[in-house]
Amino acid sequence: MVSVKNKSIESGLAEANEELEGVSSYPDSDFACIVKELGFKCELCARCCTKEFNDHIFLLDSDAAVIKEIDPEALEPAPYYEFCDQKGRFYVSGYALKTKPDGSCVFLENKRCKIYEKRPTICRVYPYMLHREADESGKVDWRQISGLNEHGSYHSELEDSECEEIVRETKAYEEAYLMQLIDFFKAVQAHFEKNGMRHVQRTYDKTIREFLKGGTEIEVFVYYEGRFEKHMLHSGEA
Ligand code: SF4
Repeated sequence: MVSVKNKSIESGLAEANEELEGVSSYPDSDFACIVKELGFKCELCARCCTKEFNDHIFLLDSDAAVIKEIDPEALEPAPYYEFCDQKGRFYVSGYALKTKPDGSCVFLENKRCKIYEKRPTICRVYPYMLHREADESGKVDWRQISGLNEHGSYHSELEDSECEEIVRETKAYEEAYLMQLIDFFKAVQAHFEKNGMRHVQRTYDKTIREFLKGGTEIEVFVYYEGRFEKHMLHSGEA
């Protein structure tokens, strides 16, 4: 995933476009070979549905629309807001699922997903991811799986058709995620230009620091279906 905090809109946009090009051109056959070789099988440990293991569940707009229908209260602005204008208002590229006080997803119950048939796309493709990352030696290459050796079992026999389906769904997710991010950058860029605004990192850091101390609230604009939805967050909620 592209982390854009502390970057300009232009560099974030360029990086996301480059990442999209890389994901799209990554050969399906190479990806399918790795999926087959890993032979990952879920063992229903449910660790991937916790904050401790996966930090947060980012939602594509299509996922957020489904969750809004199931329970709008289960949504929150995704953490790590990308930008903050000079007036201390934050902008973020999408929604995430809320977690319970123990850090597990709001939809996790007795190690099972309560909305399994309607679970978000990231939950369907996890742990298969396709993004560039450095290995232990610092060499940057594409990485295809998340949480390797920390959950599930490996070296199961997977049918070729199963591997191909995993590749298709994973690439579709990664592309949709990056396109949402690119649209978000463009929307922030247009909004800032039109209203004489800019990203101010110092204001970002100061506002977050005060918010974390408690007793304040922040304004967060979440990018959703081509527009910004405003949320007021009170200390302790984010
Ligand atoms: S929506 Fe379901 S599969 Fe996804 S994190 Fe929550 S409990 Fe797990």
